[in-house]
Amino acid sequence: MSIFICVITHGCHAGNFWHLTDMHWDPTYKLDDNPGLVCESSGNRPAGNAGEFGDYACDSPWHLINSSIYAMKDILPDPDFIVWTGDDTPHVPNEKLSEEAVLSIIGNLTQIIKQVFPDTKVYSALGNHDYHPKSQLPPVPNDIYYKVADMWQSWMDPASRNTFIRGGYYTEKLLNRAGYRMLVLNTNLYYDQNKVTLGMEDPAEQFGWADQVLTEAATNKEKVYIIGHVPPGFFEKKRSKLWFDPVFNDKFIQLIQKHHQVILGQFFGHHHTDSFRMFYSSDGSPIGTMFLSPSVTPWKTTLPGVVDGANNPGIRVFEYDTQTLLVKDVVTYYLNLTRANAARGQWEKEYRLTESFRVPDASPASMHHILDRVANDNCYLQKYYEFNSVSYDLTECNKDCRVDHVCAAREVDFYRYEHCLEKEVAICIYGGLLPVLTVALSLLLANQY
Ligand SMILES: [Zn+2]
Ligand SMILES: [Zn+2]
Repeated sequence: MSIFICVITHGCHAGNFWHLTDMHWDPTYKLDDNPGLVCESSGNRPAGNAGEFGDYACDSPWHLINSSIYAMKDILPDPDFIVWTGDDTPHVPNEKLSEEAVLSIIGNLTQIIKQVFPDTKVYSALGNHDYHPKSQLPPVPNDIYYKVADMWQSWMDPASRNTFIRGGYYTEKLLNRAGYRMLVLNTNLYYDQNKVTLGMEDPAEQFGWADQVLTEAATNKEKVYIIGHVPPGFFEKKRSKLWFDPVFNDKFIQLIQKHHQVILGQFFGHHHTDSFRMFYSSDGSPIGTMFLSPSVTPWKTTLPGVVDGANNPGIRVFEYDTQTLLVKDVVTYYLNLTRANAARGQWEKEYRLTESFRVPDASPASMHHILDRVANDNCYLQKYYEFNSVSYDLTECNKDCRVDHVCAAREVDFYRYEHCLEKEVAICIYGGLLPVLTVALSLLLANQY
């Protein structure tokens, strides 16, 4: 009987966890008669549809934060653990914030998660907005690392505190189980906006430390998940927009390639979009996937060149095998902000990965298969594209859009990405001409005989 139950519930070792990222709470958000005064994070942009749950021009009001955490509790009240990958403060100029303000925001968000999930283990990584001034996270101990370590003390093993204070990173056994490990990275140290670490060989010795942790993990036959905030590679919504300094990007890829056998999943944020990044071996086989989860904030990016870059608020559940750590499925939940403001807010399932993309699981081989379909089949491309903004942007993903999304997902390496662009753009041009050339050639041959 128990075997039968296991089969119908996707195996005997079914586990799940929440991934929550980029909440970007804007404490200045308020509904007012004057739409210009809704929130500081809108800059000078009008917040014309502002409602209780927020506005696409603004970062999250408290009501949206509260609603997302309680939605998690309603949907899956007892996850194995929660992954939280940072960016808590609003997109406002540094002058509008202070170290105190940043700490107070991180504190409030920490508190609501603890209040709603008092008995759940949380693995938490810092985002580039979780420092003052923003993105300048230092490779040495400082006030913010100390104070955040205090706030997260009940979520961390005592030993994790030492490395967290030194560089904002830590590792511990996943759920205290022998053979399983969580690695929490501070990749903000590699962000090209971080002027403090630029030109350094190994900021806060994080690469050296991670290499050692992963080497020991292999020796001890452990399986590892990695979480962090800023991902390597490119932003899929803007061609050639990268985040990491090139030297750090190379080092990160080398680290993953060297240790891919023990790394069963990577979970990052920062993009605010729903996407993924593939890692391949030198012979081109898929060896790993980095999942990029959508944000809670709907804030429309001000990045030049991105048209209408907002999203609906999203949260997501990863289903995994507790014995192998293989990622089995990804279920994304979202709030349609326009509908939520108009009526009663309702979080709903957006999609289940295996159903929408017809794959057996979310393994690197399956994710590679999905990418292939997205690259070659317009129906899958359009589906992926709509999920990318959490069903906010429902316009057609055109040829340029296809190239940007496919190459960003396929190549995290800077050189290989540029090569992918050339190749895929050529497919667009010559692929479009192919039917014409075929007809011309067959007419020519027909005339010869
Ligand atoms: Zn963010
Ligand atoms: Zn970020």
